[in-house]
Amino acid sequence: MKAQAETIAAIATGAGAGGIGIVRLSGPSAPAIATVLLGRKPLPRHAHFCHFHDEHGSLLDRGLLLHFPAPHSFTGEDVVELQAHGSRIVLASLLDRVIRLGARQARAGEFSERAFLNGKIDLIQAEAIADLIASGSQAAARAALRSLDGEFSRQVRALTEAVVRLRVWIEAAIDFPEDEIDFLATPQLIKDLAATSVRLDELLAASRRGVRLADGLHVVIIGRPNAGKSSLLNALAASDRAIVTDVPGTTRDLLRETIDLDGIGITLVDTAGLRESDDAVEIEGIRRARDELQRADLAVLVSTDEQLEQDLPLLAALPASTARLVVHNKIDLVAGAARREELEGIAHLWLSARTGAGLDLLAAELRKAAGHDEGNDGAFSARKRHVNALQRASEHMCSAQGALCEQRAGELAAEELREVQHALGEVTGDFSNEDLLGRIFADFCIGK
Ligand code: GDP
Repeated sequence: MKAQAETIAAIATGAGAGGIGIVRLSGPSAPAIATVLLGRKPLPRHAHFCHFHDEHGSLLDRGLLLHFPAPHSFTGEDVVELQAHGSRIVLASLLDRVIRLGARQARAGEFSERAFLNGKIDLIQAEAIADLIASGSQAAARAALRSLDGEFSRQVRALTEAVVRLRVWIEAAIDFPEDEIDFLATPQLIKDLAATSVRLDELLAASRRGVRLADGLHVVIIGRPNAGKSSLLNALAASDRAIVTDVPGTTRDLLRETIDLDGIGITLVDTAGLRESDDAVEIEGIRRARDELQRADLAVLVSTDEQLEQDLPLLAALPASTARLVVHNKIDLVAGAARREELEGIAHLWLSARTGAGLDLLAAELRKAAGHDEGNDGAFSARKRHVNALQRASEHMCSAQGALCEQRAGELAAEELREVQHALGEVTGDFSNEDLLGRIFADFCIGK
């Protein structure tokens, strides 16, 4: 455990009218500060009713004082929590009081950072705290909680153990080359290596879903004028899980509206304007529309049976990796039934934005794309940083397999496996540098 000399303090929650506010302290002098405030030594994990006074004896507030002695606390250090009324003024003066008693104002994320440095949580779990606070939907919150519980970490650690076992095996085989049996060619080793590689790729796929869950899904609705894009967006926005946000812009702004459907951001892009232009306002609109298309996770092309042939090229403007979905709108005009069909790997939905028929099919598709579908109970939240590291691990794993199976190069395979292990360690924070830690914890809010 890394002992920190300084005691930190911050307002952890509060400032809401009527609620409680918490000033949290962590560090070696927290118990002494608590003793001054309470007038006696606080009992461990005991809620003391306490009159909080300033240094001149004036009453600041009355509330509860709790002491969680090291190492059985969130940070692993001595932690003291002062619960007061959720007034900004009261909490600020309480914070001022404990700072005068020797604590210093905590930086953003410093409590979580200390919990990480003291081995109470790993980096994935620390990041999950920030993701939980920032979660924009119930599914995202649940996923962040699962990561905080250690679900993602457990899978990374299990994989690391498997990689270490493979390394030990290969390195032992290299060390005893004179043995009669060629250990590097044992079918079991080849099989274990392949199985570990499959597990790694499954974890990579799960973490990609985790990023989508945590970040929300960016959906763009595209199509020519009058296809019914606005009607569709309005129909979706009528759902009580949607938050409608106004995107200010000019009448020629190509991004017309954005809604948030249970954590899924849906933006309407009018592709009619995606053409060359000399007009400054229009050029800016086109640039924004193109940006929006580039960063979309899913594009919904709104068309009709009649128009589709001519509209399909609109999908060609999207990056190849963008998932897509085709909506055949206005089925009420042709007395068609709402339905879903998969054509050449792309889902096609027949619906009517006007009558609402088939909208449930679209909502289900959006939820699935965002990782919110029913079968996703074990989903955990993840970040791009994790995906990048797992991607690197997967590439080294491939090289390790190649080195062993094709070249019989044990040294090379062992070296590649070392890289796999290193990349996995970066995910959990077992291998990390101060720069990375600084960046991660700076994104937290103060008091966490
Ligand atoms: P946008 O230009 O793509 O945003 O299209 P709008 O949403 O403004 O719709 C264009 C026209 O088509 C409007 O008159 C809508 O009322 C109509 N419309 C949209 N969806 C439907 C639909 O499902 N059925 C019918 N009959 N009309 C629709």
